[in-house]
Amino acid sequence: MKNYDIIVIGAGIAGASIAAHLADSRKVAILEMEDRPGYHTTGRSAATYEPNYGPPPMLAFTRASARFFNEPPAGFADAPLLTPRDSLFFMARGQEKKTEELLAFSTGLAEISEKAARESFPILRPGYAKRTFLDPHTGDMDVDLLHRGYLRMFKARGGEVILSTEVKGLLHRNGQWQVASPQGLFVAPVVVNASGAWGDVIAKLSGVKPVGLQPKRRSIGIIPLPGHDGIADWPLATDVGETWYSKPQGGKLMVSSADTTPVDPHDAYADDLAIALGIERFKAATTVEVEHLDHSWGGLRTFAPDGSPVIGFDPEAEGFFWLVGQGGYGIQSAPALSETAAALLLGHPLPDKVVAQALDLSHITPHRFRN
Ligand SMILES: Cc1cc2nc3c(=O)[nH]c(=O)nc-3n(C[C@H](O)[C@H](O)[C@H](O)COP(=O)(O)OP(=O)(O)OC[C@H]3O[C@@H](n4cnc5c(N)ncnc54)[C@H](O)[C@@H]3O)c2cc1C
Repeated sequence: MKNYDIIVIGAGIAGASIAAHLADSRKVAILEMEDRPGYHTTGRSAATYEPNYGPPPMLAFTRASARFFNEPPAGFADAPLLTPRDSLFFMARGQEKKTEELLAFSTGLAEISEKAARESFPILRPGYAKRTFLDPHTGDMDVDLLHRGYLRMFKARGGEVILSTEVKGLLHRNGQWQVASPQGLFVAPVVVNASGAWGDVIAKLSGVKPVGLQPKRRSIGIIPLPGHDGIADWPLATDVGETWYSKPQGGKLMVSSADTTPVDPHDAYADDLAIALGIERFKAATTVEVEHLDHSWGGLRTFAPDGSPVIGFDPEAEGFFWLVGQGGYGIQSAPALSETAAALLLGHPLPDKVVAQALDLSHITPHRFRN
């Protein structure tokens, strides 16, 4: 039996980042069922930083994270965490209402002509985009570097990452959580549920009421585009309705139909039909022929019923802290989100940069599911 101040369940970006902050003043362990951290959703993202993407709390966290991505603490990363890459939003036929919605909550978008769009995205099909909006504040994140940076910070502060340790049961006794795994019993007064798609599974194992999390599969395919130069410099391209997107990766193009298929938590894989649909929509928007798929992958984006993350102590279960429901924005928001979560857990004031973004705590608290 091993005793800690705090046990974090899950070594994805959520668990790694909150644990790094908590380990500064507490004895913390991360328990991870896989034999390496980041095997599930964290290792499968599209790695895009887009400060206009997500529900209001995620916009606040993402915008408040910009400085960290651009100027991480000394020694955190030995290469840039964020490399600028523009994004283009095309209003396809019938997407007028979606465009109004996009413009209502976005900041810093500039409308550009079809000719200007084709200068950076030369494969745009003439006539496809009724209007085009440029977001110059987006970029590619180095997810692995960010994740490893937090894990390194955690370990340097005395934290323990315990891999291949699946949490199988939790029992609250005399103010302590007893966390059972095939590797033994771990005990702490506080557990952080950072188990991603398995968030409600962990709740049920703990005898805590679930919040209604829904993992949704997203599939991504990589296509080579022989005969095209300069692909690496193309922008992320998408339609306003988010029915497809493409983004350069390693001299090829990542394409997705932005699928959101509800599934149970599992080791996700790409859905062939969703990939085919993404390629069809991409072809309708561009002038290219797609000859073959290089490779593909799938991952689970997990959402609470209202689409916002769930961060905070459960009002009905002492010492049970939720850190789930980051949906499709859990990397770009991680720096400010994790600092906020650690502050809420420790009873500290919220970080100024998050207060400056007018975060509304009622949008993230687990209390909202407990009426
Ligand atoms: C295709 C795709 C594209 C995306 N694109 C972007 C993007 O461009 N930008 C962005 O910001 N976000 C993006 N996201 C979302 C982002 O990847 C997630 O929000 C984020 O990775 C969630 O991190 P997490 O730590 O909560 O989950 P995870 O990384 O899944 O970590 C949870 C961990 O908990 C562990 N666990 C579960 N149950 C147990 C148990 N019983 N015992 C021990 N350990 C357990 C799991 O093994 C896992 O390692 C994308 C996601 C997908 C799938």
